Amino acid sequence: MIGFTGGTLDRADPVRHDPALFAAAIADPAARLLVLDAYHPRVEHGALGWTSLAAAPDDATLVLLGLDDGRPRFAAAIPGDRARGRSPALFGALTQLSPSDMATYAAARSVLDWHARHSFCANCGTPTEPFRAGWGRRCPSCVTEHFPRVDPVVIMLAEHDDRVLLGRQPAFPAGRYSALAGFLEPGESIEEAVAREVREEAGIDVTDVRYVASQPWPFASSLMIACVERARSDALTLDRNELEDAIWVPRDQVRAVLAGEPGPFLPPPPYAIAHTLLTRWAEGQSA
Ligand SMILES: [Zn+2]
Repeated sequence: MIGFTGGTLDRADPVRHDPALFAAAIADPAARLLVLDAYHPRVEHGALGWTSLAAAPDDATLVLLGLDDGRPRFAAAIPGDRARGRSPALFGALTQLSPSDMATYAAARSVLDWHARHSFCANCGTPTEPFRAGWGRRCPSCVTEHFPRVDPVVIMLAEHDDRVLLGRQPAFPAGRYSALAGFLEPGESIEEAVAREVREEAGIDVTDVRYVASQPWPFASSLMIACVERARSDALTLDRNELEDAIWVPRDQVRAVLAGEPGPFLPPPPYAIAHTLLTRWAEGQSA
């Protein structure tokens, strides 16, 4: 399972569109509120912690995450609350969770973070009000409706002669190499963004871009679009602002590293789609 995918909550679209149903969900004695501390979950016995809706402050915006077997599950956007950054402790907690709980957390974190940063209308500056069960905000002045944004990111492996291109960003932990990645820009297709990013970061031209898989990444709200493509040559010219180093790694060495053996790099963590991408390439599924 790709990290942050595999959610099982019913997102309950009819409830979002019916304020009476939304009010009934809030009044439901079975309703539960996700426990968060500066956006970090409380993990208990390998599962997300939940509490009573009464624990939400009066000025919180309740977001209906969905229905779990008919039982409403909420998260609270609390004014002034800001996300604590990513940390090894956070990822340590997340990796104890089931895929479904990881996906629930990802959705909650992204939408709460969006509320925190969209209190005012981007069109006219008036304070906005939540609607659609917390999945939108509306401007009472100019009536523009705002919805949580998702930012597409392409992440990709260029292959050449049965080797794959991996890069190292300065912020990575020592020894870590991963797939190249970058934001898709307005006016680009996925294939064009992949080709541009690889050219910009590594100085190589690619062809035959193939989609492999995708992953929501809730820091803050990216959609990782994983691809494999063929490099026309292996002569690298690195953009040192983006990459500290890049290496071509033969398939057998990628397999060995993923199997936990020593090799020329340390792999990305299992919950990152780069790990899925490398695993599938190593297994020959996308070669
Ligand atoms: Zn407005």
